[in-house]
Amino acid sequence: MTKFSDLNLHPKVLKAVEEAGYESPTPIQAGAIPPALEGRDVLGIAQTGTGKTASFTLPMITKLARGRARARMPRSLVLCPTRELAAQVAENFDSYAKHVRLTKALLIGGVSFKEQDMLIDRGVDVLIATPGRLLDHFERGKLLLTGVQIMVVDEADRMLDMGFIPDIERIFSLTPFTRQTLFFSATMAPEIERITNTFLSDPARIEVARQATTSETITQSVIMFKASRKDRESSEKRKLLRDVIESEGEKCRNAIIFCNRKVDVDITAKSMKKYGLDAAPIHGDLEQSQRMKTLESFRDGSLRFLVASDVAARGLDIPNVSHVFNFDVPSHAEDYVHRIGRTGRAGKKGTTIMICTPRDERNLADVERLLKTEIPYQDIPGATKGAAPVAEPVETAKADPKPQDEKKPSRRSRSRTSSASKSSEPAVSDVDAEVKTEKPRSTKTEKPKNDKPQAKEKHADKHSNKGQSVGMGDHLPSFIALSFESRRSG
Ligand code: AMP
Repeated sequence: MTKFSDLNLHPKVLKAVEEAGYESPTPIQAGAIPPALEGRDVLGIAQTGTGKTASFTLPMITKLARGRARARMPRSLVLCPTRELAAQVAENFDSYAKHVRLTKALLIGGVSFKEQDMLIDRGVDVLIATPGRLLDHFERGKLLLTGVQIMVVDEADRMLDMGFIPDIERIFSLTPFTRQTLFFSATMAPEIERITNTFLSDPARIEVARQATTSETITQSVIMFKASRKDRESSEKRKLLRDVIESEGEKCRNAIIFCNRKVDVDITAKSMKKYGLDAAPIHGDLEQSQRMKTLESFRDGSLRFLVASDVAARGLDIPNVSHVFNFDVPSHAEDYVHRIGRTGRAGKKGTTIMICTPRDERNLADVERLLKTEIPYQDIPGATKGAAPVAEPVETAKADPKPQDEKKPSRRSRSRTSSASKSSEPAVSDVDAEVKTEKPRSTKTEKPKNDKPQAKEKHADKHSNKGQSVGMGDHLPSFIALSFESRRSG
């Protein structure tokens, strides 16, 4: 088994790694660190949770430990799709570089330019940035990228989803041709393949199989839910969520609740608070300082429930989350894997429960197809009022105009008898009708919007990773019990 000490890292970096408590490198680290230290380009196909941040920060720090930064000319650049992810990389950087004297600046939106300008003026070794903010600084003439020796692109597939690829191409073209590039993506969509072919030179390709099988430490279930009346769906769903949380009892130490839409993130958090549950929202429209504060209180345990959108929560490393609730079935199957990956981390047990309305069945089928398994049903635990279980197969044509999945029978038509034998509970008055932000919504006419811009590409073939995967094999570190599989495309 590879040891950190075999990897030629700077002794001060090794010391920091030891202090972080890491026993051995994860496969992405063992695969990416040696070629990165040799100065080669690296193409890492890995998701968050695999230890990929250290796989680029450790060699970067080792290489940058020599030399000094010049004013306005950063020596290295890390690009991340979201502010939170950038902040997280910066935190990782601080802990791994704590024994080395390096300077860094974090360029993200929501933070004043002035402070960031001052840091850049003095000269930084590492610039960690979101693409838009970096280009803003560049255009204001405050920044030169001609001194960049190492450039990292993290979570490139999410950059693609968010429409950042033109920015990334522009940033590539502003950095010297001789730079070293470390490029990470969870999947290799054709557009990502094109970028890597254009901007990477003979990269070492390290692939850690995607997390589609999900961690075995996570117990998953889905609750089929049909509202008693269309106009009560939102409030009954929130009631159901509260019932589910209550039925989990003390096992539910803390939880992230995912909603597909920002408006539902706000409403759900507000409603939970109203019912005495300690919840706060996090999504892209909130002030950066508020997002950071909320995250911090969730991390330190002073906040029990974080209600989140996909973009805001993407890639966040929050250890010790006992539960993930999917208030909605995500419209991109891959997001399900990311969402539930927030729990069951570091070998700990996690529970995830998803609410699925008749409208969501197609998305559920997509998730199950990706996972290659059916998510077990759960009866509505202790559901009293408002949350009506799906009693019988119902007509779907009106509720969901999309064509039904032909290969797979409808989940409702496969409904378990336990569910079917339960009679629908009588509907009650809107239990949290007082939640002021809620506007009456027509489920028929309103198209569910995601928090993020829609991907231009169909994601269907995103999972067809080419090449051999590096499985965890014997190297499976105890911190994470991911299932890795070696697979070839096609
Ligand atoms: P990442 O994929 O970079 O988000 O890392 C996921 C988590 O794994 C973070 O909490 C890291 O601190 C942790 N981690 C990274 N490398 C190792 C390692 N070699 N051993 C144990 N934990 C690690």
